[in-house]
Amino acid sequence: MKAAVYREHNKDPRKVVKIEDIEIPKIKHNQVLIKVEAASYNYNDLWGIWGDPIKIPLPHISGSDIAGTVEDVGENVLDIKKGDRIVGYANLTCRVCGKCTSGKEYDCLQRQVWGFQTGPLWGGFAQYTYLPEVNVIKIPDNVSFEDAAAISMVGLTAWHMLVTRANIQPGQNVLIMGGGSGMGIAGIQIAKLFNCDVIATAGNKEKMNKCLELGADHVVNHREPDWYKKVRNLTKDREGVDIIFEHIGKSVFPKEVSLLNMGGTLVSTGATTGYDSEIDLRYLFFRGLNLMGATQGTRGGLEEIIKWTSKGKIKAIIDTVYPFGDMVMGHIKMMESQLFGKLVTTPQKL
Ligand SMILES: [Zn+2]
Repeated sequence: MKAAVYREHNKDPRKVVKIEDIEIPKIKHNQVLIKVEAASYNYNDLWGIWGDPIKIPLPHISGSDIAGTVEDVGENVLDIKKGDRIVGYANLTCRVCGKCTSGKEYDCLQRQVWGFQTGPLWGGFAQYTYLPEVNVIKIPDNVSFEDAAAISMVGLTAWHMLVTRANIQPGQNVLIMGGGSGMGIAGIQIAKLFNCDVIATAGNKEKMNKCLELGADHVVNHREPDWYKKVRNLTKDREGVDIIFEHIGKSVFPKEVSLLNMGGTLVSTGATTGYDSEIDLRYLFFRGLNLMGATQGTRGGLEEIIKWTSKGKIKAIIDTVYPFGDMVMGHIKMMESQLFGKLVTTPQKL
């Protein structure tokens, strides 16, 4: 089979990521073999290629978001059958510890992100791959492989932030920072699913317009110095913001904290502009704020995302689909350009 393999780290993916012929993997009793039809890109693919900020097993196949068809199943696999259309759930956890068995698999100390921390040669940018049965979810016929691969990681993470962590309620106002990013696109749509009043932010006019097309009620340019004053004006009726969906970090964090209303919640899943932020602690205690973090999410959260995608209430937004022979160009585009939506490659189409 063909797979996108790298055997050493490099800052330029073109120098190390090569399409190679390697053996189709053999599965164990609890695993399923998957013919990969679509795989989408994430920033952790670049971290793996760079070997920075963490080292990963080499030789390596990246790719944590896949959809495809089940080709074979191990003898102890119960619910998944050959021919099933599935999407992968990239959180590999122990499934027996106290965290896993109380529904908090995201806090499992054994947790690994498949396709990033796993290997050697175990990831999604390949014509075939394998996962434990518990890490695949069946997808309905009306959800395409490309859409399933594109929505899975960002959808699951955004669902976890808003639903599991921030306990979103109908009628709240929700500030989606970076609404034009993969995460933001999912966040806007989930908040609208809950009939919230959504204020999205974006860094340019084109992305601002696209946020409105996705259903945001208001949009603000977070690169303008007085962006937070506009948000404050828009949220006067509730004396501030109920929930802030945050992944931008240092450049906006102190202002975000000042925007929350009494008992308001900020949930963070990243810090693109820097992580050593300041905070005025008076807001934290006087307003009884909830500042919380989130990473990825649960298998159940991914089932919800696929269900709402099937119903047409959440849309996967795809920027570009690359034939597999050109897949390294996806890594380059992610490094160099402003995207609106996900990048996808199709391993069966060279
Ligand atoms: Zn566990």
